[in-house]
Amino acid sequence: MAKRMTGSKIVPQCDGCCLPDFSEGYCTAFDDPAYQWRNGECWGRCESPREMVRRLEDIVAYAGPGANIATIRRELEDWEKMARLLKGSGIA
Ligand code: SF4
Repeated sequence: MAKRMTGSKIVPQCDGCCLPDFSEGYCTAFDDPAYQWRNGECWGRCESPREMVRRLEDIVAYAGPGANIATIRRELEDWEKMARLLKGSGIA
């Protein structure tokens, strides 16, 4: 998973989303979580690693085989591992 140590910290509405870097309290997707929630919802909110895998698989498929998306592919591998771990532990 990506790590972020800049921007603004997550807000209470982020509770239940799997995108924060929980050790540091930053959203790994957006610089300003409070701004994301300004209209009452965050379109990036994701409540399961399996959903993140689906999103990243869609990005990889859309980009095509020759695209320079090594970072996205690494992130996809990380989320696949997380989804497998949680599934194996019975959490997800
Ligand atoms: S994606 Fe949205 S809901 Fe999730 S941590 Fe970031 S700002 Fe919060």
